[in-house]
Amino acid sequence: MRFISILTVVAMTAFTGFAQVENDLAAYKKSCEEELAKATAIFRSLESLDGEKTVETVLKPLNEMEALLEKTGGKASLFYNVHPNQEIRDVAENQEKELTKLYNEISLSRPLFEAVKKVDVSATDEQTKRYHKHMLRDFRRSGVDQPEEVRNRIKKLNEELTELGQQFSLNTRQDVRSITLSSTNDLAGLPEDYIAAHLPDTNGTITITTDYPDYIPFSRYAENDELRKKLYIEFKNRAYPTNGDVLKEILIKRYELANLVGYKNYADFETETKMVKNVKTVRNFIDEVSAIARPRAEKEYQVLLKRLQQIDPKATAVGDWQKTYLEELIRKEQFEVDAKAIRSYFQFGVVRDGIFDLTTALYGVTFRPWDTEVWDPDVTAYELLDGDKVIGRFYLDLHPRENKYKHAAHFGIQGGIAGKQLPVSALVCNFPGKGDDSALMEHAQVETFLHEFGHLLHHLFSGNQQWIRFSGISTELDFVEAPSQMLEEWVWNANTLKMLAKNKEGKTIPPELVEKMVAAKEFGNGLFTTHQMFYAATSITIYDQNPANIDLSKTMDSLQEKYSMFKPVPDTHMYANFGHLYGYSAMYCTYMWSQVIAKDLFSRFEADMMDKKVAADYRKNILAPGGSKDAKDLVEGFLGRPYSFEPFANWLNSDSTN
Ligand SMILES: [Zn+2]
Repeated sequence: MRFISILTVVAMTAFTGFAQVENDLAAYKKSCEEELAKATAIFRSLESLDGEKTVETVLKPLNEMEALLEKTGGKASLFYNVHPNQEIRDVAENQEKELTKLYNEISLSRPLFEAVKKVDVSATDEQTKRYHKHMLRDFRRSGVDQPEEVRNRIKKLNEELTELGQQFSLNTRQDVRSITLSSTNDLAGLPEDYIAAHLPDTNGTITITTDYPDYIPFSRYAENDELRKKLYIEFKNRAYPTNGDVLKEILIKRYELANLVGYKNYADFETETKMVKNVKTVRNFIDEVSAIARPRAEKEYQVLLKRLQQIDPKATAVGDWQKTYLEELIRKEQFEVDAKAIRSYFQFGVVRDGIFDLTTALYGVTFRPWDTEVWDPDVTAYELLDGDKVIGRFYLDLHPRENKYKHAAHFGIQGGIAGKQLPVSALVCNFPGKGDDSALMEHAQVETFLHEFGHLLHHLFSGNQQWIRFSGISTELDFVEAPSQMLEEWVWNANTLKMLAKNKEGKTIPPELVEKMVAAKEFGNGLFTTHQMFYAATSITIYDQNPANIDLSKTMDSLQEKYSMFKPVPDTHMYANFGHLYGYSAMYCTYMWSQVIAKDLFSRFEADMMDKKVAADYRKNILAPGGSKDAKDLVEGFLGRPYSFEPFANWLNSDSTN
């Protein structure tokens, strides 16, 4: 009987499409409470469900619960980051906290797990089987099937790990170090505004801190090598030695956690749900990419060394603290590109319309204004149409304002369910052009715009799923960035960039200028890639063993010797402030992994970047499935073969710089 009442509740509420944006505090608060209450009611009913456990009685209500949680969570996350009304932001923040609590409870609910386990899916379709399998896998990973004392230990470990993670980043943030300069002469090479912002104090000395606005320009432009090295050492020692112990604790607790839920170590646990699947693939990847990048890295290293010898004829090696400075010099001297000339081609309005036109040209879909309420007068809303059918909706919130999220990101507000609800997204950025379409953008901003728009398209194109869990950008975490990374190619090609780049006289960007931009961007890629593999190797190595006796300094130094072109600098302890060792844990390789996959996907577009047939194939095989297939199978479906390193290798070695 209970089951019937759940379905009634659900039928009336869950799938009524997108709840409008509320700008009224009381209305928003009410909708938050109602959505949370409805989701909780479904959860409780499932926990106490009597009778047969079937797709109808368990999996479908579960899907409806997940859809509700996803929708209310999506809106809360968006509002918390962008809503101009402080009180609405507070309600949204509270909603996010409530949802975290509920999610934790759901993932550790033994009765719910038992109910899901009892469902027989042997006679169902592939998607239902996959949904069921993923559900059980995630339950097992959370430890719900363990005896009570183990479950309690897991809960405690998770709480302690969250705290340790916060402690690690707090220690790094708080340990601001500095060097003292004796006069303005020590600032030689730095831009005027930097010098003006760093005038000598009453004692005649100047303080340069390890905070980014101080550190980054100093390491890039300061001519004084000794001071650059001194600041570098301070920077690489932030939170040392405190965080050495914190990181060790994190490693030990994660190792125990992985053991408790049946894994040999934390790296095994982490890789299981990623496209890489296992540690062996990660290790092969690191070694293969290193081998590919090495020749180019060596060539680039020689270029840096030669330039260094012009400054110091006795130099025999380039230090890590000299890399950024020398690269900047070479970029300026060899590939000088006029930043002002580049900017003149990127008017905000032309870029925005050009991105729409590019999407239409590739996929045949169209856009039209969506008449709906928005949270700020700056926000615009659109519908995405395939033929005359609306397939998704989105908001563009593209300019800065007070109390708004400061970066650029795509927010998936709700995923799509076939025949029931359309996907809805928002793009939140901080571009120039508020009230002025002719405002000029940096090329890097244009790249960001297209990258984030790539996530938006992925979210909307995949919004036709049976199970909400597979809708939107629900693919493996190490594949999520690949489609957007691939799309960036379109802003580095003169022919496609034409669509987005017209100056006030209506002239499109000259191909020679684009060529120069590409050359400047690509110088240093070999060095960058090999150094990234040093980080990736560190990340997998410290999680791929029993950490009880690990020596973090020794481990990191020996991996730097092996992978990077730059030797470890004595008395530095980068692990004490390298937050990704907590955040990405064993999977720091993610960024480069998806870059390699992106180059592989792009290989089919290389002959003609505007080929509609390839684009249609790409949409069908890569974007539309969302998380309904393993990323490895998506890639194979599109390429007609397993993924390969070859396109990445060809790109890296088609050295346009020397
Ligand atoms: Zn991204």
